[in-house]
Amino acid sequence: MEADISRETSVGCDISAKKTLTVLGATGSIGTSTLDLVGRNRDKFQVVALTANRNVAELAELARRFDARLAVIGEENLFGELKEALAGTDTAVAAGEQGLLEAAALPADITMAGIMGAAGLKPTLAAVRQGNRVALANKECLVAAGALFMREVGHYKTQLLPVDSEHSAVFQSLDNGPSEQISKIILTASGGPFRSFSAEQLRHVTPAQALKHPNWSMGRKISIDSATMMNKGLELIEALHLFPVGPEQLDIVVHPQSIIHSMVSYVDGSVVAQLGVPDMRTPIAYALSWPQRMVAPIEQLDLAKIAGLSFESPDEARFPALKLARETLLAGGNAPTIMNAANEVAVDLFLGEKLTFPEIPSFCEGMIEQVQAREGHECPGSVEEVLEIDHITRIMAQSSAIV
Ligand code: NAD
Ligand code: MG
Repeated sequence: MEADISRETSVGCDISAKKTLTVLGATGSIGTSTLDLVGRNRDKFQVVALTANRNVAELAELARRFDARLAVIGEENLFGELKEALAGTDTAVAAGEQGLLEAAALPADITMAGIMGAAGLKPTLAAVRQGNRVALANKECLVAAGALFMREVGHYKTQLLPVDSEHSAVFQSLDNGPSEQISKIILTASGGPFRSFSAEQLRHVTPAQALKHPNWSMGRKISIDSATMMNKGLELIEALHLFPVGPEQLDIVVHPQSIIHSMVSYVDGSVVAQLGVPDMRTPIAYALSWPQRMVAPIEQLDLAKIAGLSFESPDEARFPALKLARETLLAGGNAPTIMNAANEVAVDLFLGEKLTFPEIPSFCEGMIEQVQAREGHECPGSVEEVLEIDHITRIMAQSSAIV
């Protein structure tokens, strides 16, 4: 699908004026990195709304610190607790799905979409429909509902800026020329904590080992996705929707140092890349301040100190999630929606020690077969249909895990 990421400068950020900002998923890894930048640039941002799923104490603390107009907790039954925690402040309080949608639909110059998983789809779409600039961290939105999501972005002429470090790197490496001049987009992958593990060693890895990423500090779900390399598979699908290339133009190279964040290769042989120390505050800062740049507290890149950058081909035999994601991307229809939901369940099952590490991709593959045997293969025609397939997959995945 054609890229719909706006590059217009006329509506871009004037960094001298205060921008209003909503953070969906404020207590998460992306949310707290975003608010770290906001805290260092109080003269540039005014917080509108903050949301979290369950962590009342942290949400209330952030709402107080940033003087949010609205704080929303996803779990409906925590409304009273949040209200009490914010008593005596000017922050309005809401809870549940309606509350999340209300927060997302408030006008703001920028919405950071930092909710984890398909749960972020409806709130992120509410921000898209409001016409807020959306800084998109929540890649599962594009995996579960890519074409529909991008259609809404186009319809509402929303600026969509990628936050995922690879996609931010690609965005920064694209020139404004015709898409025929792009020969490939090359996503880099760290390879995760088990890059050099044998198939036998992979059978015995524990959740604690899988949660320890060598280069990036991230939330639990994406850390497991990085270990299985499903994350890179999800990113292939994300890239297909964000950028004007076909699936055959998307490559992955394993680059263990995570210094080159991704590249665009052009027909004249030029390869343009974005580099930096691995810190999510760089792509977040770019999405917040684009088309300008803002100061971020990031260590300067010292290539002489790093000395060596290395590259290798991904090994789909040891990391079959990559192969599954590519097949799913090519198959289209409802397969990406099912894979995404099945993977969210599989990650939870692995964290609860109910699936082994190598079972994660095979579980997802099995769920695609099972759900399609019942529901067919057709591409969901609306967001409601996406959420229906997502729901059915979760129910079937949970029950197949019990058997
Ligand atoms: P996280 O688990 O640290 O935080 C998730 C946030 O979403 C929390 O604030 C949580 O309260 C909220 N949340 C979770 N489930 C929710 C639900 N059902 N309803 C409402 N809110 C809910 O996750 P993260 O690592 O910050 O990742 C967030 C998103 O950004 C993911 O889609 C991830 O793939 C993407 N991303 C993260 C990183 C990173 O470095 N952490 C990098 C690239 C992309
Ligand atoms: Mg990434």
